[in-house]
Amino acid sequence: MPRGRFAPTPSGEMHIGNARTALLAWLQIRSADGQFIIRMEDIDRPRSKPALARQILEDLRWLGLDWDEGPDIGGPYGPYTQSQRLELYEQAAAKLQAQGLLYPCYCSRAELNAIARAPHGLSSEGPVYPGICRGLTDDERAAKAARKSPSLRFTIPDRPISYKDQAAGLQSFSAGSGGDFIIKRADGIFSYQLAVVMDDAAMQITDVLRGSDLLDSTPRQLLLYEALGYQPPSFTHVPLLVEPDGSRLAKRSGALSLRALREAGVLPEHIIGALASISGLHDRVEPIHARELIRSFRVSKIPDKPVTVDSDWLEKLQQR
Ligand code: GLU
Repeated sequence: MPRGRFAPTPSGEMHIGNARTALLAWLQIRSADGQFIIRMEDIDRPRSKPALARQILEDLRWLGLDWDEGPDIGGPYGPYTQSQRLELYEQAAAKLQAQGLLYPCYCSRAELNAIARAPHGLSSEGPVYPGICRGLTDDERAAKAARKSPSLRFTIPDRPISYKDQAAGLQSFSAGSGGDFIIKRADGIFSYQLAVVMDDAAMQITDVLRGSDLLDSTPRQLLLYEALGYQPPSFTHVPLLVEPDGSRLAKRSGALSLRALREAGVLPEHIIGALASISGLHDRVEPIHARELIRSFRVSKIPDKPVTVDSDWLEKLQQR
């Protein structure tokens, strides 16, 4: 049975872009008669807020989305909140460590930012790590360890990675792209990459649909699936909603949060209708319930380029 999920990070309010991702992930699973799971990704505890986690669930329900397993209702693969699953990530890190795939990294953020200004490039997670601490001798390591507690990095193999994305098509990443990535931060917090792979594997997720901002995380996650001995899910990365200048919608003010729209009296079917029309799911711009979109949903209908939302669309969205 297909199993998909929406995995919000409760560090901010849910906005119209997140709502669209949730809607598409839900439609993909509901149209395949599968099970839909909500997982709260509060692995970065200091940045996450329980009140926001509660509000996100409320927003999703208000939109007319439902789930079979989640933080509020539990399920066979729970808990569905990352901060309650640390033991699992600990075990995974130990498994990688035992294979000699992790090494301590003592580089500070300032050092890495300085590197970022040099022409090594950026990935969605910041500067591409050029491997400074990969080849340290024992003595060098000991000297650095006396001054700073390390993060743990994953040694990526020297070979290209490719996979077939259900929306973005064949994806190829050259050897070394992205650089060695963090598994556990110096402050003890496990990385998104490790947590998301362990959770999707443990929760038996078969289909991951998410925004294309996470496309370049996928090769890293594929490497972790391989190293940990799990079968990866099928990936569908959908183009983001963007501002007319091409920047991410997420950067916009709180006026586009679901809470703000709801408080302004906008109805959920109005929002679903607006999202469905710009996402190629419905021909007309008219209010519609999420469940009415299930039958005709196809991933292939979703535009393959970022969708620009102009002020006209945003104004209409905010009209009741
Ligand atoms: N928690 C991630 C986010 O909010 C999503 C992770 C994923 O879908 O893989 O961006």
